[in-house]
Amino acid sequence: MSIQGCKPDPQALDASGHLQLDTACHRCGYLLRGLAPTARCPECGVPVYLSLRGEHLVNASPEWLGQVGVGFRIGQSAAIGLSVLVFPGACLALAMGHLPAWLVPAILVLWAFGVWRATTPEPGRPVGRHRVMAAIVCGCTVIVQVVALLVAWRDWQNVWGLIIFLEWACAVGLWLLQMLVARNLSRRITDPREIISVKVWTVIGLVGHGAVATGLLVGAVAAREPELAVIVPMSVGAVTTWLALLGSANVFSNIAGVLERCAMIALADRKEAIDRDDPPNA
Ligand SMILES: [Zn+2]
Repeated sequence: MSIQGCKPDPQALDASGHLQLDTACHRCGYLLRGLAPTARCPECGVPVYLSLRGEHLVNASPEWLGQVGVGFRIGQSAAIGLSVLVFPGACLALAMGHLPAWLVPAILVLWAFGVWRATTPEPGRPVGRHRVMAAIVCGCTVIVQVVALLVAWRDWQNVWGLIIFLEWACAVGLWLLQMLVARNLSRRITDPREIISVKVWTVIGLVGHGAVATGLLVGAVAAREPELAVIVPMSVGAVTTWLALLGSANVFSNIAGVLERCAMIALADRKEAIDRDDPPNA
């Protein structure tokens, strides 16, 4: 993919050439309003103009890009792990004790950590709604995993159905949140293919989860004669969800790759700017 978009934002400066927007420093988040683009951040010394170059990810803080990139790498690993493990058959094996009871909880806690990293607030920007959603979803995920381990340890067979449902709900929440963050980030790169692939896999994933939800609902309501009305949507949902998890893992991997490349370019750019503005004293 191409990385462009280093143009300064024309709205950022007033008539006298000073910053009129609440632009935050690239590195430390200090508000640069009132400074000239040729000045330096009073807090950390990074040239002001580096923080003025628009929304493209290559102009974002490299430290922040690194944090979010790690979140997407974790999301990628978790999605692959779940696509391997969480099939109806695997769920059944788990319920019957054929898989270690900590395996799915461990993946989900790891994923919660990844989503938390992926929603790290950008320096100087307000805490976004995705961060608030992450606090709720990640918090609930950790609580459910503790309960799941407790249930496994106490061997309360009669609540396994509920636990598997809650685990599924946590996985859907984490997946959807990470896709929403991926969609936001993909708007800030120049390659429209990324935006399309995020949309396509989100829709496929929602269809899969919808089918699973239908199966669960029918199973709960018509428990006496569930057979086909449960088996068909659950099977369709399992296959579609499996595909969507693999597709999403690919999306997370692409986004992480973009973030890593942008972070490298932004760091090199910053170093070059600092070296240029700081000629070694003779
Ligand atoms: Zn600064």
